[in-house]
Amino acid sequence: MGDFTLELNDDQQSVRDWIHGFAADVMRPAAAEWDEREETPWPIIQEAAKIGLYSLDFYAQQYFDPTGLGIPLTMEELFWGDAGIALSIVGTGLAAVGVLANGTEEQIGTWVPQMYGDVNDVKLAAFCSSEPDAGSDVSAMRTRAVYDEATGEWVLNGTKTWATNGGIANVHVVVAVVDPELGTKGHASFIVPPGTPGLSQGQKFKKHGIRASHTAEVVLEDVRIPGDCLLGGKEKLDERLARARERARSGDSGERVKNAAMATFEASRPAVGAMAVGTARAAYEYALEYATGREQFGRPIIDNQGVAFQLADMRTQVDAARLLVWRASWMATAGRPFTSAEGSMSKLFASETAKKVTAQAIQILGGNGYTREYPVERMHRDSAIYTIFEGTSEIQRLVIARTLSGMPIR
Ligand SMILES: Cc1cc2nc3c(=O)[nH]c(=O)nc-3n(C[C@H](O)[C@H](O)[C@H](O)COP(=O)(O)OP(=O)(O)OC[C@H]3O[C@@H](n4cnc5c(N)ncnc54)[C@H](O)[C@@H]3O)c2cc1C
Repeated sequence: MGDFTLELNDDQQSVRDWIHGFAADVMRPAAAEWDEREETPWPIIQEAAKIGLYSLDFYAQQYFDPTGLGIPLTMEELFWGDAGIALSIVGTGLAAVGVLANGTEEQIGTWVPQMYGDVNDVKLAAFCSSEPDAGSDVSAMRTRAVYDEATGEWVLNGTKTWATNGGIANVHVVVAVVDPELGTKGHASFIVPPGTPGLSQGQKFKKHGIRASHTAEVVLEDVRIPGDCLLGGKEKLDERLARARERARSGDSGERVKNAAMATFEASRPAVGAMAVGTARAAYEYALEYATGREQFGRPIIDNQGVAFQLADMRTQVDAARLLVWRASWMATAGRPFTSAEGSMSKLFASETAKKVTAQAIQILGGNGYTREYPVERMHRDSAIYTIFEGTSEIQRLVIARTLSGMPIR
């Protein structure tokens, strides 16, 4: 027999079971309450911090799992517990990855610990890229960062929107335009340290789902930050901008740089796919149990092919989604090129599956499924986010189609 296996090793199984215990015992019982409150579930995050489930160490360990499955396993179990609470727990990671990907060692050491805080004083972080007029089209970004030579500070102005943990975070990572002539190549990321004047929370959104996760606008008015809050440092930025200007002059399309950025997205998308798998699996499991217990016409409803076949399809799709997620996660860790946009495929399929499977779960629960007394209604509302954030389904299809065809499909 060769080496290939889809079996989890002992460490992976025990971490998965440990997270599952937290998801089942702490998150599930609290899910309906925090969904109704539409507030960040601080006590649950504190519980997670107490056991080490909300900590930089834990996520770093999962990130460096050599099989690539550490993060997808974590996401699936947490989002199986509850999507809104889970996003409150993992939202900080989005900002932390921004620093880990672009920051110097010193910046990583200074800022990432402040994103998590400690067990007695838990903190959050926010990643602020989207703007009212720049969602799918990142090149339309307007938030400006201007270097003040006199003070050695950067000055940020603009409005960010849809920021998870925006305004309530200790540390905000903000993407801004440093050279408007260069399109997305003229963007850079900045740390806005805790308590910096000029950063304020705008509107907090009242959402359809994941209501325990805080989503808000972040307004930046003459926000002055020290020069060393530019991620990667000024020297590196100046070199990068000089190369981009040179390429623009010589008519080079910058394919190599685009490919590097694409590889980063392809590597992060399976994590969102894994979240969707968690929600879909939760709804499928609930519907299976319900269909086995609920009787009509003198027999369990699962005794009808009309119900049982739906469950067969649901389970098949959940497992297929997981396999696509695992493949892409393994590829990212193994450094395999995403020649067919496998990361986008996994996010597209898993997110669409979550919407479909949670809708079927409502159908199987009948009237009960339509009420907030039963969790599948919440799971269905929650699942709608997966086809929107981190690139909508349409954008995933664009990426896949362009990658497969080599054509600039619009
Ligand atoms: C709850 C929530 C949390 C979020 N968290 C964050 C966060 O922490 N940080 C952050 O920076 N952002 C965050 N986002 C923003 C999210 O990434 C954007 O909402 C997403 O990228 C889509 O942008 P948009 O909402 O402006 O939609 P638009 O870009 O306006 O898209 C509207 C519709 O048009 C379609 N469309 C657009 N362009 C094309 C095209 N070329 N071809 C085909 N169809 C197209 C889209 O697919 C979509 O269906 C969050 C969003 C939500 C809702």
